[in-house]
Amino acid sequence: MNWLRNFMMGRYGGDQLSLALIVLSLLLSSIANMFRQPVLSVIACIPLGVCIYRMLSRNISKRSMENYKFMMLLSPVYSWLRRLPLRIHDLKYYRYFKCPGCKAQLRVPRGKGKIIVTCPKCKTEFMKKS
Ligand SMILES: [Zn+2]
Repeated sequence: MNWLRNFMMGRYGGDQLSLALIVLSLLLSSIANMFRQPVLSVIACIPLGVCIYRMLSRNISKRSMENYKFMMLLSPVYSWLRRLPLRIHDLKYYRYFKCPGCKAQLRVPRGKGKIIVTCPKCKTEFMKKS
């Protein structure tokens, strides 16, 4: 294992973007196998090749910036997924609205009829049925 350690010395290694590329490659190759598409299985090798290139790259700052941009792109998805269990739990008791003024997410109790919702952030008032 010492040869591997020496080989990887100064190289970038794996990160979230590499993992996403591997998952994309596996997904594409399994779809290719499902529908018997040889062209798609060749296309599935491209993300894997990019992943290997990134992992073995010595330009660490450039790879870090790529991963940072990827994570910034995915951050809304991550935060939505993190809030999803709470929203599912609250579905019975609360309704969620988006403030028309500042796009903040507001939670109001369910079953109160037509109510005037006041945004605590920007004080915009709007009428909604809860
Ligand atoms: Zn607001």
